[in-house]
Amino acid sequence: MASRPVRFFFEMSEWKKMSNVIAIDGPAASGKSTVARMLAERFGIAYVNTGSLYRAVAYAALRAGMEFSRLDRDFLAQLQFDYAPDENGAFTLRMNGVFLREELRSPEVAAGASAVATLPVVREALLDVQRSMAGERMIVMEGRDIGTVVFPDARYKFFVTATPEERARRRLAQSGEVAAGATLEEVAREIAARDKQDSERKTAPLKPAEDAIRIDTTGRTIAEVVEMIAAYVK
Ligand code: C5P
Repeated sequence: MASRPVRFFFEMSEWKKMSNVIAIDGPAASGKSTVARMLAERFGIAYVNTGSLYRAVAYAALRAGMEFSRLDRDFLAQLQFDYAPDENGAFTLRMNGVFLREELRSPEVAAGASAVATLPVVREALLDVQRSMAGERMIVMEGRDIGTVVFPDARYKFFVTATPEERARRRLAQSGEVAAGATLEEVAREIAARDKQDSERKTAPLKPAEDAIRIDTTGRTIAEVVEMIAAYVK
């Protein structure tokens, strides 16, 4: 009995030390974006999609006609990022004050994002933007290295997966994300190439944090997965 207040105090100080972040990592088309968005809606908190940052860097480089391998600090310093509520209230990425949406969804930008994400100079430049999002209020942040690198001290960590076949089917169902007329096989190949690049890169590779809760979404509805995660986040 006597040890209870001490233990309570210990738990409270542990609580304070962690970042107020629900980290959701996982491979392409694993369903993590939809799950993260719905979870944030359910708890009435902000949702941050960090893949859009890498997509925005690729988009800026493509637009400037700059080879990805030549991206440097000077180029990146010209890109100011923040997330702001759009006209529907959804937290959306802005680059130099301009909202980016459809322009980030093309297959070229998706492949470019995976390529620029291998560059340490890019990852370093984007760390501060991501870390500045955490504060007093809990947020849901989704990506590849949130639980391992960006917020190793996140209060909750999940690693969401699905079989390659299921992910290819889901990606094919998302209009705009794949080239017109693409077959399931082609989409599966593109996803496999992205998985390989994301998990084999030297800096911040895609992998589950040791303390992440792993969730296989294969054969489960989005609502079921949201329920599973919400049951941990109480
Ligand atoms: O999640 P999304 O498909 O939009 O991410 C695009 C690319 O950005 C990924 O393939 C990955 O290479 C990179 N990425 C990353 N780290 C993150 C989020 C995305 O390397 N936290």
